Amino acid sequence: MSEKFQVIIIGSGPGGYVCAIRLAQLGIKTACVESRGTLGGTCLNIGCIPSKSLLNLSKNFHKAKDLSNLGVEVGKVKLNLKKMMQNKDKAVTSLTKGIEFLFKKNKVTHFKGIGSFKSSTQISIIDNQKKETIIETEKTIISTGSEPVSLPSIQFDEKIIVSSTGALSLKVVPKKMVIVGGGYIGLEMGSVWSRLGAEVHVIEFLDHITPGMDKEISKEFMKILTKQGINFHLQTKVDSIKKNNKGASISTTHKDGKKINFKCDIVLISVGRKPNIKNLNLDAIGVELDDKKRVKTDKNFETSIKNIYAIGDVKEGPMLAHKAEEEGIAVAEMIAGQSGHVNYDIIPGVIYTSPEVASIGKTEEQLKELNKKYKVGKFPFMANSRAKAIDEPEGFVKILADEKTDKVLGVHMISPHAGEMIAEMAVAMEFGASSEDIARTCHAHPTFSEAVKEAALSVDKRAIHS
Ligand SMILES: Cc1cc2nc3c(=O)[nH]c(=O)nc-3n(C[C@H](O)[C@H](O)[C@H](O)COP(=O)(O)OP(=O)(O)OC[C@H]3O[C@@H](n4cnc5c(N)ncnc54)[C@H](O)[C@@H]3O)c2cc1C
Repeated sequence: MSEKFQVIIIGSGPGGYVCAIRLAQLGIKTACVESRGTLGGTCLNIGCIPSKSLLNLSKNFHKAKDLSNLGVEVGKVKLNLKKMMQNKDKAVTSLTKGIEFLFKKNKVTHFKGIGSFKSSTQISIIDNQKKETIIETEKTIISTGSEPVSLPSIQFDEKIIVSSTGALSLKVVPKKMVIVGGGYIGLEMGSVWSRLGAEVHVIEFLDHITPGMDKEISKEFMKILTKQGINFHLQTKVDSIKKNNKGASISTTHKDGKKINFKCDIVLISVGRKPNIKNLNLDAIGVELDDKKRVKTDKNFETSIKNIYAIGDVKEGPMLAHKAEEEGIAVAEMIAGQSGHVNYDIIPGVIYTSPEVASIGKTEEQLKELNKKYKVGKFPFMANSRAKAIDEPEGFVKILADEKTDKVLGVHMISPHAGEMIAEMAVAMEFGASSEDIARTCHAHPTFSEAVKEAALSVDKRAIHS
């Protein structure tokens, strides 16, 4: 007789593992099926965590080279890429093992292998010895995440033509790296390899980088990255990529018709990700997809088939780890008869370059499109005492507030600590704060967060320090 569970989750990324732990906390007999050797999904294994580790290590390397200018003599700074990669791997291993520990602690059963639907209540698991186990379930949650997409007829070899996965594990620093796509993953990886010594070129089809971001922030961000040595080629389309024994050559056409060819040792294709549904056998049980081949769900995360749910990158919404986690908690609580909820209007987005970029809520472009009347408050870090004291004065905070009610509608910032500071704005917005509320909240001095208070004061044209 096959083992029976109340809920089976397929995929152990931030959506799946968080959901599994919450279900177990709520007393529900839960199993999680994962095809990868380790738990934690894209995020922990080949996404958020290794990229942030390399961003931090490469930033330290880059900074150490300049320390003598600041009066700190450290001798010759040398890169040991192998050790850097080992440090990254150590961070990944410790976190993925941590999820194993949490599964044991919460009594979540972990099945290793590829999960697929045999029927709407039976899940087949094929392990790496090709052995099949079938388990029974009352409810199933699809949390199989996403995978990188390439350009038409171009295959990743993860050596010369790489996705983010290959870019996280290069064995030598490329002399020249071309990145196709100016989104956040490409720019984070570009920053890493540029700091470690590569000449980096970003080819972007649009007339701006980081699509969807507030345009003013996006412009400033590109200016800062250009100053750091990253080369941008906007309004440029890749026509072909050909591998040769030294690397690759890339033919492109600019919007004005000019052809430009690039030769490089590594091409990172970073043009987006697609839902990972390939092994699930969804057709057989009739789970419907939307026009972008994502699993279609209703507002309760339920698919077109009763008792089958989907969360995270595999369904609609921003492909972000914390969005997947929120959905995991919400669906677990709904299954347990509680009222789970995700506020899709208040999901922060962070780019972990140096400085960081963080946003929440509406951009100025979105407010214009919605015909919403708004006020803008801005404050530059050039006038922030902490930023000046530690010589990191780039960037600014921008707050968008409703013209009539003063309710905060969006916050966008570039700053070394933007990724942390945006959390204050998330809480404020969840409580429906006005810019006046933020302006009247005491912020410690000297901190970067004082710039948020000043930007709020500036909504009403009363900033003190600018
Ligand atoms: C380089 C990079 C950097 C990123 N940085 C950030 C960041 O800083 N912040 C952020 O919020 N997001 C970041 N992301 C995005 C983030 O990783 C994803 O949004 C997040 O992992 C989605 O979580 P998920 O649970 O939906 O799926 P995933 O994390 O993709 O997990 C899905 C899991 O399901 C497993 N699986 C798939 N099919 C099957 C099957 N049939 N049977 C069993 N198991 C299966 C997969 O092996 C995988 O482990 C980054 C992504 C990349 C690639």
